[in-house]
Amino acid sequence: MGSEIVVVGSLNMDMVVSVDRKPAKGETLLGKNFFMSAGGKGANQAYAARKQGAEVSMIGKVGQDVFGDQLLRNLEEIGVDVGPIGRISEEATGIAFITLDSSGDNNIIVSPGANQRLTPEDIRRHERLIGEAKLLMVQLEIPLETVMEAVSIASRHGVKVLLDPAPAQPIPDDLLQKVDYIVPNESEISQLTGIEVRDRVSAKLAAVELQRRGVKTVFAKLGARGVVVAEATGNRYVEAFAVKAVDTTAAGDAFAGAIGASLIGGKDVWTAAKFASAVGAITVTGKGAQASIPDLAQTESFILEALLKQK
Ligand code: ADP
Repeated sequence: MGSEIVVVGSLNMDMVVSVDRKPAKGETLLGKNFFMSAGGKGANQAYAARKQGAEVSMIGKVGQDVFGDQLLRNLEEIGVDVGPIGRISEEATGIAFITLDSSGDNNIIVSPGANQRLTPEDIRRHERLIGEAKLLMVQLEIPLETVMEAVSIASRHGVKVLLDPAPAQPIPDDLLQKVDYIVPNESEISQLTGIEVRDRVSAKLAAVELQRRGVKTVFAKLGARGVVVAEATGNRYVEAFAVKAVDTTAAGDAFAGAIGASLIGGKDVWTAAKFASAVGAITVTGKGAQASIPDLAQTESFILEALLKQK
């Protein structure tokens, strides 16, 4: 049976240590509060979209190890279809080493492992699943040729495509032309367009540049400063919700998953952006990646509370 959303992307086990500051060159620093949390941009987005009510299938690859078991279980438990996630013995499951400093900022080293082995051929095997979906969601933690294959299949079948261009890397125009929705953060959109994005005005300029290169709708995420949404009919700024950030890991993924769930639910891009901003805001108030992503009921009561506070 098909799903409304198919996510093609990475699964990583995140290993997180809190530090007071970043270590200097050659320095050994004592960290505290070590914890592991299920992550990977693909898995986080699949998790977020499912938590917000969408039917989700995920295509990816993990190793034959305990982390692979845990990552699959974590998605399966909330009802993500993990059938299309392959397992291989030649590579370990993807790992992300994350240090979290006292300001809530993070630094991440990713060892992609099995994610790097997700091939265009793997994707072709799931052409029917992708072709029957309403939305394909992709990010850049798997090989670019694999992303391109998934996007080409979606585009051939008239399935909408949401691209999170993270981690930042150059993207060919023929890929951008097949993208319906893109959700870059400040540094990603700056690198993609060569326009340094610092505020709303520069974000609008950069968003228009991405539209010129073929993307239909741009959600330019500005962290605590909100989102600039640009589509064919014009552009608009959507304010962020005021929260105290504890751990910003997966805010962008939670945002992307929520945009996906909201759009396939028939919402317009502005409503989707506001809703996804709430999901992003709640996510930064909790530690970990998937562990901090709220469900639909939590998001709705958060939005209601914020509205009541304004009055
Ligand atoms: P990324 O995680 O990809 O760098 P952002 O940091 O821009 O992306 O976060 C994605 C979205 O999550 C933002 O557009 C915003 O809506 C929400 N968000 C992130 N950080 C905060 C924050 N400190 N306060 C409120 N909302 C936030």
